Amino acid sequence: MRILLVEDETKVSKFVARGLMEERFAVDVAADGTSGLELANAYHYDLIVLDLMLPGMDGTEVLRRIRNKSTSVPVLVLTARDAVSDKVGNFEVGADDYLTKPFAFAELLARVKALLRRGPVNRSSVVRVEDLELDRLTQQVKRAGKRIELTSKEYALLEYLMSNTGRVLSRTMIIEHVWDQSFDGITNIVDVYVRHLRNKVDEVHEHKLIHTVRGVGYTVKGECP
Ligand code: CA
Repeated sequence: MRILLVEDETKVSKFVARGLMEERFAVDVAADGTSGLELANAYHYDLIVLDLMLPGMDGTEVLRRIRNKSTSVPVLVLTARDAVSDKVGNFEVGADDYLTKPFAFAELLARVKALLRRGPVNRSSVVRVEDLELDRLTQQVKRAGKRIELTSKEYALLEYLMSNTGRVLSRTMIIEHVWDQSFDGITNIVDVYVRHLRNKVDEVHEHKLIHTVRGVGYTVKGECP
């Protein structure tokens, strides 16, 4: 696991870097925003620890630029400021967690480990499978650029299938996710809705994206290699 630490205070960066290395992380240190951004763009990091008050480019700007290129690397922001508005602002530009100085190394380590356990986050609102596109923000679905109108259940079903592209989902998984635990309606409800979806998504297209896996369930996937 490789971590980038962007921190201008030598005392803090030495103490954090040493602690992380003792935990067997590989650690690169940058002492200002510009070189931090350069490293972030040049290497693949599993996590970035980013101070906000930095000489040159400040941490919020570094974070914004990192997010323009990489949406998935977890970023833990370090700062002396603890104003709520700062936190909200940095969460909005893509911070995953926040730690206010001064902090105990044990707390930083706990947060680093928690973020790494969570893994890369898919922050993009748009999911694509070939020419099928679903936007989680606007809840719009398009195929080959053409808008498809779905009911809310059809949308929820497609969103679940597309969020798990390539993975086979059983009828039980689909019911538990798209309907709810208390659902006790007709047992073929999933098949009925998949049929509706197929009519809207696949029917007029030669290349089908919704597939039945016999005896198991359904999957959305693109062209087989
Ligand atoms: Ca600083």
